[in-house]
Order: sequence, then structure tokens, then C-alpha cells
Amino acid sequence: MDLLRTLQDIVGTENVLTGDDVRRRSVSWADHSPCQALAIVRPANTGQVSKVLAVCHAAGQPVVPMGGLTGLVRGCVAGPHEIGLSLERMHRVESVDPVNRTITLEAGVPLQVVQQEAEQHGLLYPVDFGARGSAHIGATVATNAGGNGVIRYGMTRDSVLGLEAVLADGTVISSMNRMIKNNAAYDLKQLFIGTEGTLGIVTRLVLRLREAPRSVQTAMVACGEFGDVTQLLKHMDAALGGSLSAFEVMWNEFYRLVTTPPARGTPPLGQDHPYYVLLEASGGDAGRDQARFEEALGEAIEAGLVADAVIASSEAQRESLWALRDDVESFFRLGMPVTFDISLPVTEMEDYVREVLARLEQEWPAYRRFVFGHLGDGNLHIIAAGPPSREARHGIERCVYEPLAAREGSVSAEHGIGLEKQPWLSLSRGPAELDLMRRLKAALDPKHILNPGRVLPD
Ligand code: ZN
Repeated sequence: MDLLRTLQDIVGTENVLTGDDVRRRSVSWADHSPCQALAIVRPANTGQVSKVLAVCHAAGQPVVPMGGLTGLVRGCVAGPHEIGLSLERMHRVESVDPVNRTITLEAGVPLQVVQQEAEQHGLLYPVDFGARGSAHIGATVATNAGGNGVIRYGMTRDSVLGLEAVLADGTVISSMNRMIKNNAAYDLKQLFIGTEGTLGIVTRLVLRLREAPRSVQTAMVACGEFGDVTQLLKHMDAALGGSLSAFEVMWNEFYRLVTTPPARGTPPLGQDHPYYVLLEASGGDAGRDQARFEEALGEAIEAGLVADAVIASSEAQRESLWALRDDVESFFRLGMPVTFDISLPVTEMEDYVREVLARLEQEWPAYRRFVFGHLGDGNLHIIAAGPPSREARHGIERCVYEPLAAREGSVSAEHGIGLEKQPWLSLSRGPAELDLMRRLKAALDPKHILNPGRVLPD
């Protein structure tokens, strides 16, 4: 095929994978069926990305950007007529600047390497989630990844200072800003953050780093009522003066599952409380921070917000508390889990969850239901686990998404839209918003070659 030969001329024959070399790769982290892409192209630098896209643009060839394939919304599942574009060879950390507190790097660097580089300079890259070892930093930017530290440091968007991106026609937009403040006209980087590779391919980045915390305090507490949970969030946030860095809530069924065999976890607190909160603070003075944390928690107990509590007294204990929150294996043991990452105002949550669970119980009783999430960010994860079925999946999605509309919630807090949530996007976005998104897409990618059909329906 002429196109593939031209691409070989640009990136080298060995970097245009076809046939078995493509099939050997899986579709995604969760789906191990073989990748169906026509070819996977692996450019070495921005110049090559530009040439590859210019050629594909001229030929009207659809291109699907591929990172570490750890996404959860089938955003980079390529079909047999699509070319995968992987930046896995672009994994160079260019520089770390400890005074300006920035890191400059290529988009194919794994998230964990970014964290380690920061750590070596006494700094912190605050975005963190389970797939850190595989997720490409460029893809975390393209999807505006969230995770556990958002309550303190914001989403990925809040850590991006500058970037370089290639448009569908091969035009390179270099916007490698290093300052926190820059109001010189439109903030173009935002076009490429959270747009899932539909408006351009991020090739290089300047990220903001923070001072690494010198102390961490972690506790698991139990609450009797949802109102106690929300009051506890306000109390701890106020009492800790901005150092609260995680506030993860687990509903009873979740806690029970991950603390009962065959799950590996053991219950740090009794299993009969309606809600459990994993909370963490980090600061700059271990002695004082620990005392303040314990005092704040003591006040919450005295006020009756907390029924029981355990404070981690060692790093090992801290890790075992987090392991409960991060135990995804327990869900896979129950069948194929259908996972959601909705968001809505904290004040609407109790009522919303009650409605969703009641609907699921009535309509899909064979599926077990679990609720947990980053409550401080208004983000809940809902999991329905049971026998895999396309019909059930759609029915379960209706039960979860429909009650969001009236509450002005979002069908995606942090995973993005991809192919999976596209049918539900209009529940969270109005016609004028969707129209503006389409106009942006048409302006930047008039031939619809970049991740076509993802995010916005074609
Ligand atoms: Zn999450």
C-alpha cells in the first residue's frame, strides 16, 4: 500500500507495524483481544508526527492516537481501517528545573517516570492513579486525567503549563509556556487538554511541579450518616488549612467486599457502618502536622461526625488502607464490572445514589452494586458487577445516567467520553455547547481524521 510505504519512508520500516506485530498488542488494559488497526506508526519526534499527519490528512486516512492503553472509555480502540499513532518512542525527559519547578518532556514518558523525576529533585508531580506505570503522560493530558490528589492539586489540566501539539494537517503548534501566569490572548493549550486526541496530538509538555510534602497523615474513619460525611469534609478542610490531600469515600457494600475473603484486605474498622472515609493530609513539619491532624479528627469525633477511626501509624499501615480503596481485582472476581465515573454536587449525592441503587436493584437484580469515589471532588464511581451482556450494560447505563440530568451532573468526571459514553453526552451538554464543539472540530480537523467518531458523534 502506497500510504504505508510513504509512512515507512518517514519513520523507518521497523516503525510501521503491521499484521502479527499489531495483533500481538491488545485493544486495551481491560480488553485483551488483539488490536485490529491497519498499522501502528511509531514516530521518533515532533517533526515525524507532523509529516505522518500531513500524509494521512492528504489521504483522508483516519488516525487513532495510542498511549499506554489504560483508558477506560475505549477512546483508542482502533478499527481495521484506522492507523494507530503511538508515541512510545518519544519518552525523553528533556529537563527538570527545580527553581521554576517545571519539567519539560516528550509525550510518551510514563506517568510514573514523571513522578520519579520530580521526586529526585525533592518535588512532586501530583497527578496519580493506579495505571501510573503504563499511562503515557501525553495521554493523561489528552484525557485530563483525575485521580486521588485532585482535591488539593486539581486535575491534570491544572499541572500543564505549556505544550506542543500537531494539528490534523501536520501544523506544529508550539506553546511551551513555562509560567503559571500568561494571559497573552487565547490559552491554546486548553484545546488539546481533555479533548482525547480529537483536535490535535500532544507531542511535548511543560508540567508544573510542586514542593514534595515532608509529612503525610492518613486515617480511615466510619460515619453513620451521609450528612456526617459532608460535614466531616468541611471540618477537616477548614481545620487543616489547605493540607487535606485526599478524601475518598466508600459505601458499606464496597468496604465489605474489599475486607472480606477472598479479598486480601482485612477490616481496620467494623463492617457495619454505612460509610467509610479514607482521608489524608500532607504538610511540611511531621511533628506539628501529626498533632494537628489528630486534633482535627478528635474534634470530629467529639462533634459526633465520626463513629470510629483508625490512624495509620506506619507507612505499611498507610499502604494497607489505600490498598482497600484501590482493590479493583475484587470486582473482576464478580464478573465483568460496568464502571462509572459520574460527578454531581455533593449536596445531591445521597438522594442520587439512593435513586440509582433502587433502580438497579429493581431492573438488574443479578448485578451487585458498589459506590465509592473522590467525594471531595464531587466524583463518584459506581460499579455494577455481574454476567457480561450488552443489553444489561445499556440498561445499567440508563439507570446510572438518567437521574443525573435533573441534577445537572456529568456523565464523566475524569475518564472522558471516548466511544463508550458518547450516546449519553447530551445528558450533560446542551445543544449550543455540542454545536460549538463541532465547530471547533471542523475548524481544526476538517477531514475528521483525528480519532474520528470518538467524543463527538460524527
Ligand atoms: Zn477515580
